[in-house]
Amino acid sequence: MLQIKGIYKQYKTGSLVQQALDDVSLTFRDNEFVAILGPSGSGKTTLLNIIGGLDRYDKGDLIINGVSTKKYRDRDWDAYRNHSIGFVFQSYNLISHQSVLQNVELALTISGISRSERRKRAIEALEKVGLGDQLHKKPNQMSGGQMQRVAIARALVNNPEILLADEPTGALDSQTGIQVMDLLKEVAQDHLVIMVTHNSDLAQQYATRIVNLRDGKITGDSNPVTGREAELEKPKKQKRVSMSYRTSLGLSFRNLLTKKRRTLTTAAAGSIGIIGIALILALSSGVNQYIEDLQKSTMSSYPITISASTVDLSSMSSLMGSMGGLTMGATGSGEEPEDGVHSNSDSLLIENTVTSSFVENDLTAFKAYLDDPD
Ligand code: ADP
Ligand code: MG
Repeated sequence: MLQIKGIYKQYKTGSLVQQALDDVSLTFRDNEFVAILGPSGSGKTTLLNIIGGLDRYDKGDLIINGVSTKKYRDRDWDAYRNHSIGFVFQSYNLISHQSVLQNVELALTISGISRSERRKRAIEALEKVGLGDQLHKKPNQMSGGQMQRVAIARALVNNPEILLADEPTGALDSQTGIQVMDLLKEVAQDHLVIMVTHNSDLAQQYATRIVNLRDGKITGDSNPVTGREAELEKPKKQKRVSMSYRTSLGLSFRNLLTKKRRTLTTAAAGSIGIIGIALILALSSGVNQYIEDLQKSTMSSYPITISASTVDLSSMSSLMGSMGGLTMGATGSGEEPEDGVHSNSDSLLIENTVTSSFVENDLTAFKAYLDDPD
């Protein structure tokens, strides 16, 4: 079930602010043929684009199968447009240099379906709209009504739940318009069809529900969804944009094969990079090894000497530090008379420390330690 709640949409062009939709709320059933009726400029296209995820609302919410779209990311919108929505435009929007069949097939290409399956489904869709014998015509060799039927086939080939049509008969004469309407009515048997039109006769004749729109506001709804109906609807899980692992692998592989030169160049460039990094790593580890070996062989020629007494170097260095501090303090004090007599106990201090930092090594214990097999 599709629901829009308090939707607002503004367009700003320079200093002009146009309120295209002004607090629009609607709930749609899963199968019905809704006609949105209103004069030109009343916001019909804007409403349809927002329902189809082609445009974003400023305020309000679009609820798809019970799930709010406020937190939708681009990926979710893509999935929604790909799987749930089919579009039919007033101006058909067919690609003129491709055949009818290719036009319909194109809608399936991004869905990750195999070529033969694509062809089969495109032909089926075209047969459904009564064009099974015109597969290889170009769009400009067809009448308006036929082109619109191709557009409907293209919209339906992905098997969406919702078909959105923006003035689908706007460019057609009444006779061909009726053919298209008959087709949409048939589609509405098992789809939600929302059609925008300003032709009230056609709407009355075919639609099961008519919503009137004027200046961005809803002014009438012939068959609104009641609260009870809304409660009965069960929320459905949304289809994900997904492709089986095998299909995606196959597609990637085929893609690689179709661009042989590019693939080869990329592979070569990648290999050069990897080989380069490997070379640098190998070289650096080799040099490290060499330095280590050199160090070992050089050092082994110096024997380790252990003497009975030694000097404690750490106490010496602390002395040097404190002496540095003393000197700094002396130069810092400017009150001292220039011709005073100063005592100098530094050399005595050094001598004292040097003699006191001589320590005796306990060689007996050390030898016992070395001799102990454990
Ligand atoms: P309808 O389809 O009912 O004719 P639209 O939904 O196309 O109406 O437009 C509703 C209002 O919003 C119009 O006044 C139109 O000028 C304005 N509008 C629509 N699209 C844009 C846009 N892209 N930029 C600025 N204004 C826009
Ligand atoms: Mg319009």
